Amino acid sequence: MFEYHAPKDLLQDKKILVTGAGDGIGRAAALMFAQYGATVILLGRTVSKLETVYDDIEDKGYAKPAIIPLNMEGAAEKDYDDVAVSIENEFGKLDGILHNAALLGSLTTLEQYEVPEWNKILQVNVTAPFMMTKALIPLLRLSEDASIIFTSSSVGRKGRAFWGAYSVSKFANEGMMQVLADELDDDQHNVRVNSINPGATRTNMRASAYPAENPVHNPTPEEIMPAYLYLMGEDSKGVTGKAFDAQTK
Ligand code: NAP
Repeated sequence: MFEYHAPKDLLQDKKILVTGAGDGIGRAAALMFAQYGATVILLGRTVSKLETVYDDIEDKGYAKPAIIPLNMEGAAEKDYDDVAVSIENEFGKLDGILHNAALLGSLTTLEQYEVPEWNKILQVNVTAPFMMTKALIPLLRLSEDASIIFTSSSVGRKGRAFWGAYSVSKFANEGMMQVLADELDDDQHNVRVNSINPGATRTNMRASAYPAENPVHNPTPEEIMPAYLYLMGEDSKGVTGKAFDAQTK
């Protein structure tokens, strides 16, 4: 596992947006960021799940979160501009984005891959985080120390048969991370951009991809959080354009 021991107040007063915050790794990250002091903005498509995370955060006495319902499959540029306006109105700035929401899609050959499904996976996994980042960069620039994390995969670093649009979308996330990191690597150095490959993690997505696998052999989302905390907090200041593995020492 990535080794990092976060100080208790690592994310104190930070405003952090987590996409796909209702389930799996996004849910764990939202709760963990809140535990370390952040005000978390929970974005996702299933409001009931976001509300459950909201209640968990409130019950634990962490900073009051916010909910932004958004289905990234159908959302257009205007919807992301609206997200930016509501974050600006409520918080005035943004200190972090965890681009976590994604769809797996079919595991089949490219020869068999259906074009509408291809478009859907690329929309949710690539175009949506692009539009969201574009809309939110001005708010990140207002932070003294901002971090953007893109979520990759082992099939976003090396292509593998049958992983189709999902694999291609994860390569695209690595590319977007590198392009953006280079563009934001200015004199202020206040916005860093990196990627994380969570590695095999006990979530619904993993279970869909590997239905025959015994899930207990994979770490829980909570267990892979050290890398996420490191990249979101100031201990990674100055680190940008790099690809991380949450489960590598
Ligand atoms: P998950 O349990 O399926 O959670 C994915 C989250 O994304 C859910 O909250 C889901 O919302 C949300 N989402 C999906 N489509 C959306 C849309 N159109 N609009 C808004 N939100 C949407 O998956 P996970 O395993 O936690 O995966 C989290 C990230 O890690 C993904 O980027 C995934 O590719 C990556 N990853 C996971 C593993 C692994 O082993 N688990 C390995 C490598 C990479 P709903 O709850 O409403 O469905």
